[in-house]
Amino acid sequence: MDAFIKKYQYNYIKKCLHDLNTTYGTCADKNIIEANKSYICDKILYLFTDLSEEQKELLDISKITEASHIDKYLSDLSKYVYEMPPVTSTQLSKLFKKEKKLKLPNLDDEDSKNVYLGWVDTATNKLFVAYNLDDKLIGMACRITSQGSKNTRMCTLCNRIAGENEVAFVSPICKTTNASEGAYRSIGFNICLDSKTCNERIASVEKLEKILKNVNNIK
Ligand SMILES: [Zn+2]
Repeated sequence: MDAFIKKYQYNYIKKCLHDLNTTYGTCADKNIIEANKSYICDKILYLFTDLSEEQKELLDISKITEASHIDKYLSDLSKYVYEMPPVTSTQLSKLFKKEKKLKLPNLDDEDSKNVYLGWVDTATNKLFVAYNLDDKLIGMACRITSQGSKNTRMCTLCNRIAGENEVAFVSPICKTTNASEGAYRSIGFNICLDSKTCNERIASVEKLEKILKNVNNIK
């Protein structure tokens, strides 16, 4: 069987199974557990279209009959998660050609099963994001704006809530088609500075794609 699960779908399933784990831990009523399982099962199957029997079998959570089966289920599934198409330093340099002294990430260290590639350049205080949208590599360079506040923030992509040193407010540098229609388009959002953590949590690419399209002026 080939890979058929996108990383964000895997993260979504992981989140569902985490809820199931909580149910096992807090609930002794078998009927409630079964109801919860069938609800989760529907949510998982709803992510996919045209599943083969073999794929359905793999995703089926009825084989989980106690909390300790969850890890095995997730590790079996993880073998069928797509890898990101390989990204080269040349591609990244081209993508961010307007950036002076661009610092590239160590691509050997990156998990091949990422939703997006993200890294921080502390020298310029920028966060870079590269993502494959419909087989085309697009990106954004974001200025990290520290406001020195003690309040917590929520990452727009993965909903993680943490202090400003972990989830920061950033403003991407937007592309415009012509200067007259607002050369200084500015948007901002909160995002995890540690992209590894974010990549393990992001359960939907809807917001990421929306921001990237907006930044890159893709209609
Ligand atoms: Zn995040």
